[in-house]
Amino acid sequence: MKITMLGPPGAGKGTQAAKLSEALGIPTLSTGHILRTAIKEGLPVGLEAKSYMDAGKLVPDETIIKVVKEYLEENNFNTGYILDGMPRTLNQAEMLEEMGVEIDVAILLEISDEDIEERMKGRRVCPACGAAYNTKSLPPRTEGICDICGEALVIRDDDKPETLRQRLAVYHEETEPIIGFYENMGKLKRIDGKADIQESTDKILNMLELIS
Ligand code: AMP
Repeated sequence: MKITMLGPPGAGKGTQAAKLSEALGIPTLSTGHILRTAIKEGLPVGLEAKSYMDAGKLVPDETIIKVVKEYLEENNFNTGYILDGMPRTLNQAEMLEEMGVEIDVAILLEISDEDIEERMKGRRVCPACGAAYNTKSLPPRTEGICDICGEALVIRDDDKPETLRQRLAVYHEETEPIIGFYENMGKLKRIDGKADIQESTDKILNMLELIS
């Protein structure tokens, strides 16, 4: 099964992807995490992506498609996977289909910009493994420390209010058209992005059971 998580930055795509990945036993492919790792490792693709990411803009489609293609070739995900943060443009959605990555279900986490801005004040991430936390709704067991790898948690540069507003604008302009793309294919499922984390996971799992 190939699933993609859709929704604005901070809607909970990464959080739900991690929970679904555990429940379904399939891996997650997060383009944001792949790019942040490439930046940390000083790889050329990371250097190219950094200026776009720092400005809250999208990395060019060709670069992203290349990164995803390489990642899928290096890893043999024959049981399926969950895409988190991909596709982000209509062009990417079409390019994925063209390269044979046919999405079975697109899960849209719906939440308002106001709620996102409030929620993002509490977001913390692990710079090592990419796990995401929230000081209010999903705190780590020890304050400021990643449950999984023990690293000190950080606030992502692009979660700062000015950059977040830019990312939301980009989402409405460039990513939202994808909703219609998957809706027309009968693959879109809408989930309340404001609901309790576990409640949403349970709803998604029930829904996946019904369609599989
Ligand atoms: P994320 O971790 O998914 O919020 O992504 C962080 C940043 O990485 C985004 O704001 C973009 O600059 C870049 N990025 C991640 N995925 C994509 C994508 N599929 N297309 C273009 N840019 C992306």
